[in-house]
Amino acid sequence: MTLVVLVRRRKMKIAINDFSWEWQMERSFQTALFLLRPEMVFILGDVFDEGKWSSTKDWEDDVRRFKQIFYHSSNTELVVLIGNHDIGFHHEMTSYKLERFEKIFNMTSAKILTKRGVNFLLVNSVALHGDHCPICQSVEDKLYSFAQQLNCSTQSDATRNHCRDMQTHASTPPIILQHYPLYRTSDAECTGEDAAPLNERYQLFQERYDVLSQDASKKLLWWFQPRLILSGHTHSSCEVFHENRFLEISVPSFSWRNRNNPSFILGTFSTSDFALSKCFLPEESSIIAVYCSSAVVTVLIILVHLRPFQGALHIVNSLLGKKKSL
Ligand SMILES: [Zn+2]
Repeated sequence: MTLVVLVRRRKMKIAINDFSWEWQMERSFQTALFLLRPEMVFILGDVFDEGKWSSTKDWEDDVRRFKQIFYHSSNTELVVLIGNHDIGFHHEMTSYKLERFEKIFNMTSAKILTKRGVNFLLVNSVALHGDHCPICQSVEDKLYSFAQQLNCSTQSDATRNHCRDMQTHASTPPIILQHYPLYRTSDAECTGEDAAPLNERYQLFQERYDVLSQDASKKLLWWFQPRLILSGHTHSSCEVFHENRFLEISVPSFSWRNRNNPSFILGTFSTSDFALSKCFLPEESSIIAVYCSSAVVTVLIILVHLRPFQGALHIVNSLLGKKKSL
């Protein structure tokens, strides 16, 4: 099974740059679909830059443009996770904004999606604040219940009494997909060409803002023992091993708005294994250089074919010829 994982973000109010960024995302997405034909695509949140405060009209415009950019056939399933720019940070999150998002993307704050025996756990990480707010509590309760179901789905637990009426899932540890990364102190250990720039890499992360809290991160690891965690939010790449065994990959931004070298991850998953590769999109600076050089060459070709210019060229050639004969 092949998957493409990406994260993106764009601005609601359109400026000239927004057109080129949206054009870049649309072309990149459509080309990736055409070449790779993935079964599923996960977008790890922050679909709308200003979804947290957009009016109904702006929201509808954003949704329409999103559908245009991420158009896909029924052969590909598109799963969109919730990010802080879609519904706001925890203190800005309301039931109205959450329901508005969930209705459009058919996504709930916690969900197990099983494909070909692989369990994908989709989490609204904005709601993992840990303060028992009604939305947070309901997400935590749901996750706890999923953890029990997954434990009962393994052979060793299946015969236990408390598992009798429990919903079952494929008997493999899940892959967690969410917007916020699990807790890490900074990006200091991150390497690679699309890791955070050196001047940002050592800045300490703030719990519940840049990354999940330590408590919420521990809970997710203890409850689910995931075989992989894929997250977004930071716009830069990072590979981290939590407790020396749980691999998390922070997927960089898919948009030129956030970086010159956007990328996405292509994954193949089985019930016991997975393989991931990173696909880089064209760099914005290279594309600008190609367009500028093409424009210069085109102008020169046009000028060469224009009569007045041909005349001027002839005079220059004659002068040069005379100079040589002297
Ligand atoms: Zn974010």
